[in-house]
Amino acid sequence: MPKHRVLIVEDEQDIAGLIKLSIERAGDTDAHIVGSGDAALKAVADRIPDLIVLDLNLPVVGGLEVCRILRSRSDVPHVPIIMLTARASEDDRVTGLEHGADDYVTKPFSVRELTARVRAALRRGPASESRSRGTYQGDRLTADFEAVAIAVDGAAVRLTRREFELLQYLVQNKNRVVTRDRLLERVWGYERLVETRSVDVHVGRLRNKLGEASRQIETVVGLGYRFID
Ligand code: CA
Repeated sequence: MPKHRVLIVEDEQDIAGLIKLSIERAGDTDAHIVGSGDAALKAVADRIPDLIVLDLNLPVVGGLEVCRILRSRSDVPHVPIIMLTARASEDDRVTGLEHGADDYVTKPFSVRELTARVRAALRRGPASESRSRGTYQGDRLTADFEAVAIAVDGAAVRLTRREFELLQYLVQNKNRVVTRDRLLERVWGYERLVETRSVDVHVGRLRNKLGEASRQIETVVGLGYRFID
């Protein structure tokens, strides 16, 4: 089995070293450390890693900029990015997710927790793999978005158009945090009269209809929602 390759982008060497040790402990992953944003872009250009742990506060080219550049390049596949944010402010986290980060951990963080998230993301594999598929098959939930057919435990579920689109967007972005604003933009299409609160109302209705499968839609406090696969 080839080893997973993780790129750690962090200028604080002691923190980077701890993360590397923890990630490599299981023996199936190699972690490589770079200390700046430009070195990160060069490292990705040389060889695309399986996952990037990206600090927000970096010299010269910051973490958000690295994220934005990587996501804007069509020749770079969708590598999962877990962002480390020193600031606990919601704005920073939202900005990170909007710039294309898949997940974030707020400093000071537990290395164990970060490593668990890294391992979970590596297990899931590249996010783009399932993104284009129009179907989803879970333990209880099955969805054929092309045929507009949703079922839980084999029983068809009737959704409104909005609920259907909500579910589709969440599933297409499974295992990633989707902010309320993003949902408003993608599902409601910038109908500015709609308040973010109404996203919660619709998610509530969707959960009711999904019954046992509704556990897959997780609330991320202060941010939005995540469909857990
Ligand atoms: Ca830093």
